[in-house]
Amino acid sequence: MNMKGHNGRCPCRACYIIGVQISAEGNKNHTYYVPLSRGPPRISYDATNLPLRTHAQFLADAHRVETAPTTAEANSLATECGVKGTPILSALSSLEFPTSFPIDFMHLIWENIVKNLILLWTKNFPALAHENSQPYHIKKTVWDAIGEATAAAGSSIPSAFGSRVPNIAKNRGDFSAEAYSIWTLFLGPVLLWKFLKKPYYDHFVDLVTLLTVCMRFELTPTDVRFIRDGFVKWVQRYEELYYRSDTHRLPVCTINVHSLLHIADSIEQCGPVWAYWCFAVERFCGSLLRTIRNRRFPFACLDRRIRDIAQLDQIKVRYNLSKILDLSLRGQIKDRGTCINNCKSGWLLAVSRFLRSNQII
Ligand SMILES: [Zn+2]
Repeated sequence: MNMKGHNGRCPCRACYIIGVQISAEGNKNHTYYVPLSRGPPRISYDATNLPLRTHAQFLADAHRVETAPTTAEANSLATECGVKGTPILSALSSLEFPTSFPIDFMHLIWENIVKNLILLWTKNFPALAHENSQPYHIKKTVWDAIGEATAAAGSSIPSAFGSRVPNIAKNRGDFSAEAYSIWTLFLGPVLLWKFLKKPYYDHFVDLVTLLTVCMRFELTPTDVRFIRDGFVKWVQRYEELYYRSDTHRLPVCTINVHSLLHIADSIEQCGPVWAYWCFAVERFCGSLLRTIRNRRFPFACLDRRIRDIAQLDQIKVRYNLSKILDLSLRGQIKDRGTCINNCKSGWLLAVSRFLRSNQII
């Protein structure tokens, strides 16, 4: 999209909300944060009526930056409007800026919002690591116990719910987006009960309710209204609980928290969140990565792999060989595994590199 992101004064890709920087002397953090209410003088944005960007405005901003008489003026304009120049994809008439670029639910929720909440609760949020005791802090001993309970829960959760979730206190480095998703939706509300103080716990459970609705396969207009109104209330409450209009706490008002207010727009414009979240493309990239056998010529390996997949797909279609040429994991399992008592839904397999250590088939 050729945007400045959190380094622009209008850091949001979807609207013209103006960012605020930490004004303390000697501050080296130039990130723009986007609380709904800020001041003095006290100004508050109406979360139900944000100043949305339009395609025409977006391209006009880009044009202004590109035709600025000097580089310094171009840079200043880019910082002001958040657009660095005309995006190359704008050459495609089928795309609209910013509506053709919905918010990626996977990174927004599982890799940002939930991660940051955990950092706040465990006193590890970078900008507030030195703060005094806060009502939302969870004691280290309690958090360690929550971590152990998380790991132990894997033994009694059917694999249909997803991969086994590691110890959240000790092995957060091993957490994938899928693990954050399972922990938040199924384990968090139980494990945090009574250990996260009431307003914060209720606020977290409200988030889980909203996320559960967002992840539905199909959504009705009533669901989208629920998501829109729900995130408005959730973000306002978030600012009351974690930001408290305190300039020192500004870093909790990240662009990601603000982006929650645009999820309903993305759903209305591009469909349910699963239709464009990054799980699919990351899995595809992961499968390509494993094909790189040569460090000196990685791109040749990638090119050959993509060409081979395309050729194989064509052969399958042309000669009706989809089953015989099925090289997927499931196909290999059927070839290598032992089927017990003709039970077609399950195979016994020797441990191999095809299986993740925690995967049960
Ligand atoms: Zn916005």
